[in-house]
Amino acid sequence: RVIGAIKTQTPQPKTFSRGIQTVTLIPGDGIGPEISTAVMKIFEAAKAPIQWEERNVTAIQGPGGRWMIPPEAKESMDKNKIGLKGPLKTPIAAGHPSMNLLLRKTFDLYANVRPCVSIEGYKTPYTDVDLVTIRENTEGEYSGIEHVIVDGVVQSIKLITEDASRRIAEYAFEYARNNQRTSVTAVHKANIMRMSDGLFLRKCREVAENFKDVKFTEMYLDTVCLNMVQDPSHFDVLVMPNLYGDILSDLCAGLIGGLGVTPSGNIGANGVAIFESVHGTAPDIAGKDLANPTALLLSAVMMLRHMGLHSYAKKIETACYDTIRDKKVLTKDLGGNSKCSEFTDDICRRV
Ligand code: NAD
Repeated sequence: RVIGAIKTQTPQPKTFSRGIQTVTLIPGDGIGPEISTAVMKIFEAAKAPIQWEERNVTAIQGPGGRWMIPPEAKESMDKNKIGLKGPLKTPIAAGHPSMNLLLRKTFDLYANVRPCVSIEGYKTPYTDVDLVTIRENTEGEYSGIEHVIVDGVVQSIKLITEDASRRIAEYAFEYARNNQRTSVTAVHKANIMRMSDGLFLRKCREVAENFKDVKFTEMYLDTVCLNMVQDPSHFDVLVMPNLYGDILSDLCAGLIGGLGVTPSGNIGANGVAIFESVHGTAPDIAGKDLANPTALLLSAVMMLRHMGLHSYAKKIETACYDTIRDKKVLTKDLGGNSKCSEFTDDICRRV
């Protein structure tokens, strides 16, 4: 086994039974509790068949000083398989891991999915963005293999494996097929990174052979960036290695109004999935009832679709978009003067 290589597991989607489903809720830090409360309130108003199991995920040190998430949170996720998560602060203390990274590792959350759809009534450079970025979440430049060679020279290794590349490509094509999307674009730099991105691209091409109903294209990362800011309407589903996905997904979020309105999902092996807002804990406005809960709410909408609860997803999403389009009750970051609780109440009235 290659040092640092992630042993991939074949995803096994969980089938959801009817009736009330339990979801692990990780409210998070900073504005996390406020926006989580907003989502719970809106779900209750919409009579969504969800009950929440709240868990804290402050990192703790286990045997041998190993960082881990608290056992109650892990057990809850293992049991429920579905989680909704607010932002988590990254402690500055040396040696403390990023909680998001720890969650990703604990549950092998290999696919980061971010739908970017223009919101009617919210002024952005384009009104016709409707694309999804699917980022490989476990390897690439973020494998954490770095060392000093000699003083002043550091080497950082980009790790790409056949298994992880195939797994993310399969997820992207399945996603396209299941979400009425028509094309998948593999984003790469195989002209320069011939072996690593070359392998990623080869796996995408191989997987594409099994999905003849979905159009497959490939494009260099720089060309994607150029085309994306000139005319994003050409893109549908994009699949890419970790670092490219980290950057490109934020660029796409910028096209629809920023991280405050962008949802995301992290899909793992064994049917686990955690949906989360991609913005941070916003310490400058925490506790002031000023946060915009849209990103977490739309992440929760993604979660409902993932669970097959489409009518509730549609109802809540439409209410949220209607509130924004109406412009009467908007949080400050959306150009209004309303509180988080007022924005939430307006959505509740519409569901
Ligand atoms: P941030 O996203 O928290 O804040 C950047 C700016 O955006 C701030 O002005 C903030 O007020 C505003 N903002 C963010 N979300 C908002 C919302 N929902 N409504 C209204 N305004 C909002 O980024 P930061 O300040 O760089 O990070 C703060 C902390 O969050 C750090 O500890 C960082 O590690 C953590 N973080 C966590 C996640 C995550 O859990 N996914 C992501 C990014 C940053």
